[in-house]
Amino acid sequence: MEPTAAFQGLRCPACERIHALTSDHSCPDCGAACEVAYDYAAVTPAELFDLPDDTESEVGADDPSAPGHWRFDALLPFAASDAVTAGEGGTPLVAADRLAEELDVADVYIKDEGRNPTGTVYDRGMSLAVTALAAEDDPDALEPIALATTGNSGQSAAAYVGRLGLRSYAFVPSRSAFSNKAMINVHGGEMRVVGGRYADAVEAVDEQLATDYYSLQEFTTPYRHEGAKTLAFELYADLGEIPDYVFIPTSTGELIAGVANGFEELTEIGATESTPTIVAVQPTSCAPIATALERGESAPEPWAVPDTIVGELEVPDPAGGPQAVDALQRLDGDAVTVDDADILDSAVTVAQQEVIEMGAAGGAAPAGAWAYDEDGGFDSDETVVLLNTESGAKTPDILRSHLMGGGR
Ligand SMILES: [Zn+2]
Repeated sequence: MEPTAAFQGLRCPACERIHALTSDHSCPDCGAACEVAYDYAAVTPAELFDLPDDTESEVGADDPSAPGHWRFDALLPFAASDAVTAGEGGTPLVAADRLAEELDVADVYIKDEGRNPTGTVYDRGMSLAVTALAAEDDPDALEPIALATTGNSGQSAAAYVGRLGLRSYAFVPSRSAFSNKAMINVHGGEMRVVGGRYADAVEAVDEQLATDYYSLQEFTTPYRHEGAKTLAFELYADLGEIPDYVFIPTSTGELIAGVANGFEELTEIGATESTPTIVAVQPTSCAPIATALERGESAPEPWAVPDTIVGELEVPDPAGGPQAVDALQRLDGDAVTVDDADILDSAVTVAQQEVIEMGAAGGAAPAGAWAYDEDGGFDSDETVVLLNTESGAKTPDILRSHLMGGGR
């Protein structure tokens, strides 16, 4: 498997050196987790966006289009032809006219990541991470493949690792959504249900796997947040311009770090000059990244007593906390916190008004936009994007019981 032309290797954020690929993705000199590095001078906007060339515009004259977000492989480490993919990415950007009216802005769009193969935005990064695994000389020798997960990324990992026929372990907290647990098994993954909360699942990986393993943990593998950046490319391609705001339900920090990086790369290659205001949305009862940003700190303090019904967003000590806070500071982003009831109300409202089925975590995006609006956030000519991170099929029980409990 050949790397793409612009891909240089893995850059150590601590000592800045660029290294060849290694299976643990860490710097051989200092041990820090590495980031993917590119030569931006080697990529033009036309290459990234696959703009048709007159000589190749005839139908069938060129290779068929790469599926989903792999069309952007000019700025990915691996070529679309080598990808372990199920067509993730390329999700619809749906106009939400009633929301636009209510928020008194020009346009509101929902980027519906619930329509990915396993119903989650994490399929993007998992496809890259598992493609990197497939690129290893002897992937079989790296078994088992493992991660701790609040649920969605575990389901995604089981699915993509299953494509390679390798053994994977997802460590999930007992409170993880039933649909995630069921589908981890359906995809052929091993599951370890850990009593307690997400932090307990993280600890259990090393405790219970008394062997070396290949990690698919976010920010241990550099490819998960790397995969999230294609959201920025798709938003720009679909809108034809940079939106004013992107509201992102936030847990591990990988979506914030990835999407911010994607918009910055568009400026690096000369496609755009500006970046949007990225707004991280966290539940009031587990908001380490929002709190660090508000206090001007460079790294979040672990959240002492996390307690949100939105299990996907209950990540008290985010692996990508420093990267997310840094990204928000670089791009002059913002953060809001919202109560669980508002998150669930928002998911229900979007389902009733706009067709789109959001899981509970996805509801944080519209809830964040409402909260921002109440603080006088928007101008009437602005374009607002809400990132729906998961399908409604993930948490119908939570949404329905909220609905019944509230008498709606
Ligand atoms: Zn280093």
